[in-house]
Amino acid sequence: MVTASEMPPLTSTVGLKCRSCGAPLPADPTGEILRCEHCGTAQRVVDARAFVDQIALQINSFLRQALPMGAVGAAGGGAIDPVARHNLFVQGVRPRLDTEFREMRFRCFNLLSHGQMALPFTVTSWLTSPEDPKGAFLFQEKVRSVRSLAVDEESQGYLSEIEAIATAYAYLLTNAGFLSQVQPERYPFVARNCREASQALQNTPKLKALELRLSGLSFLAEALDQLSQGNPQKAREPLRSALPPLTQAREIAFQNFDQSVMIGGIDEDIAIAKASLVLTDVLTPSGGGDAGRSLQTTEVLLRTLNSPLPGGEVNTATLSAARLETLLTLAAQMRKAQSGQGAVRVLNGPGEIFVAFWVVEVPYSFSTGALWKARGVEVSETMLVASTFPLARPGQGPLDPSSVVTDVFAARGPSSWRDRVAGRETAISGGGIVRQVVAGSASLPLPGLPCVPPLSTQDEASRLVQEYLTWSRQRDAEIDQKLKLSLPRVVDLVYLSCVPGRPGSPPVPFLGPLSPRTLGDPGALHALAFT
Ligand SMILES: [Zn+2]
Repeated sequence: MVTASEMPPLTSTVGLKCRSCGAPLPADPTGEILRCEHCGTAQRVVDARAFVDQIALQINSFLRQALPMGAVGAAGGGAIDPVARHNLFVQGVRPRLDTEFREMRFRCFNLLSHGQMALPFTVTSWLTSPEDPKGAFLFQEKVRSVRSLAVDEESQGYLSEIEAIATAYAYLLTNAGFLSQVQPERYPFVARNCREASQALQNTPKLKALELRLSGLSFLAEALDQLSQGNPQKAREPLRSALPPLTQAREIAFQNFDQSVMIGGIDEDIAIAKASLVLTDVLTPSGGGDAGRSLQTTEVLLRTLNSPLPGGEVNTATLSAARLETLLTLAAQMRKAQSGQGAVRVLNGPGEIFVAFWVVEVPYSFSTGALWKARGVEVSETMLVASTFPLARPGQGPLDPSSVVTDVFAARGPSSWRDRVAGRETAISGGGIVRQVVAGSASLPLPGLPCVPPLSTQDEASRLVQEYLTWSRQRDAEIDQKLKLSLPRVVDLVYLSCVPGRPGSPPVPFLGPLSPRTLGDPGALHALAFT
């Protein structure tokens, strides 16, 4: 029997590790300072060695608990017979590893049920304080330290599988740190970590979906690295390589109960990949425009889209990858129209900037007339919602919905007492000119002026109109009394030339008194205007 004092020096079997994330460092350091390729932390070689000594102590303590007194050396390759080693493995080691592994696997797949990528200048909204990856790397070392005790194929397969998952999880946690805060130059690390995590799973067929997902993510991170530097052309190639493995991963996960928990997360990854694809169009300067300016405006756009919406409706859904994909697709259509390769609905007029408005049909009925003259009237009103309304929050206070729409209920024409009693009213709103404006718009390339893309989705615009209706009832007792149920429906998006921020003049001149009172902070609008 080998005694504890004969135990081989474990530090020699543990390679240099990063003090910050726990990932392996290059084996033969040349200088005094080493930079970790996985988290980017620079550290002194002596400090990295001291950290390895700490790991070795922890491994020793694990072995002492898992093995009977005197048998610890066996794990280091001591010469005891295979049957004895097998018994040590089955009785002491495997149950301990199993308990730790089951908890880690649960946390790993919980992480994987979310998206694992963030667009440039944005963070993943669901992730608050990611776990330290050092724990998963330590587990990986524990598994390695007992390899010589796994003598049969089943035990060896078990160790390979749990080591692969621990490795992948450790790299994913390092990435989670990168994705929860906006850092310049984070993508090369994210790409490398995804690639190594994917490679770690290559011999674990039951985790094929995860292997493919990580491989797709590594290409996606390469593309995002190019996009964040303003090189849309160089992003296209890695983006083409990212989507097929992600789609295939989704298909396999769908058929496999163990991995199906990842489907929602893979969908978010796919949405980010698609958003990145349209981002290449957003970033491509229109004829004569310069790439630096494009990148600058795109950065402002992404930061704006990644911030909470006004009115306290912040939740993970409103900041989802799918929302980013939707809004960036609209921005890309606008950019194509700007470069003359596409068209959007436009109404040109006096102004200094184009702003996108949602066109909303608001069918409603109201009751008019007294006694036997009482009747219901069906009306369909058209309203415009400034799609930039998320910028219109005064301070941090709640948004007044009437300030960012064509306030049609305030603009209702006067009705005589006689008409009201006789039931001759035709509407309780007055948005006539809005319908003419929408009818006068045409599908065209966007001429000359700088353009602000939509900052709200169709659903958000429709919710805002519902809030506006509630607000109008509270403001006007007669409307509250007469207005019957209405279901606003967004039908189009139209770009109108505007003059935001000129004191005393409505931001949309040709809407006259119906013009929204604000389109959002004028400075913010100009910073978001693509040229
Ligand atoms: Zn590191």
